[in-house]
Amino acid sequence: MIFKQVFDQKSSTYTYLIASSTGREALIIDPVLENVEDYIKLLSELDLRLVKVIDTHIHADHVTGAGKLRDKTKCVTIMGDHTPADAVEIKVKDEEVIKLDELNIRALYTPGHTSDSFSFLMDNYLFSGDTLLINGTGRTDFQNGNAKDSYDSIFHKLLKLPSETLLYPGHDYNGKMVSSIGKEKKFNPRLQINDVDEYIEIMNNLNLKTPDQIDFNIASNLKLGSI
Ligand code: FE
Repeated sequence: MIFKQVFDQKSSTYTYLIASSTGREALIIDPVLENVEDYIKLLSELDLRLVKVIDTHIHADHVTGAGKLRDKTKCVTIMGDHTPADAVEIKVKDEEVIKLDELNIRALYTPGHTSDSFSFLMDNYLFSGDTLLINGTGRTDFQNGNAKDSYDSIFHKLLKLPSETLLYPGHDYNGKMVSSIGKEKKFNPRLQINDVDEYIEIMNNLNLKTPDQIDFNIASNLKLGSI
């Protein structure tokens, strides 16, 4: 298996490239529009053929590179089946398996940060989008976000995975690249709570600034970054 983690400085987004070392098929998770040429260069350096691109959810803080990658490489675009983006070619269901040569990537519906958020699990690599972050969790104050759904997705789904599962989030603002389910269970301050009401109370009082250009980003992402 070939695995690369690429960081976008401007939005602190992590993009992931996964590929089979035998068949050379590649998949990209959460590409950023401005970095599409870099991904294409990386694919060619590694002698890989991009066949699939996934967005974990409709992003509010950056524009997706999914549409541009589809146009340039003829790869297929994938999102979870709760996406409001009509342009997505394949909409996967909870527990559906995405194939990449001999690799299997399992889709997990994990709403809360947004109503369309999915996470993706490949062996012991969990790509959590913005559902579960390192030492944090994705905000729930726009795009049909819901703190109770976030609690259920995290506590009843993601934290049920084996503790050694590696956590690769959609963002990090503090230079952290990877964690594990076990570490987050123990140390993530937002998860050290007694019940769902305590979690909802925390999430409803984060008082975060609205992302710059949120309306433009969402409108553009509904068209896979084509406007
Ligand atoms: Fe997000």
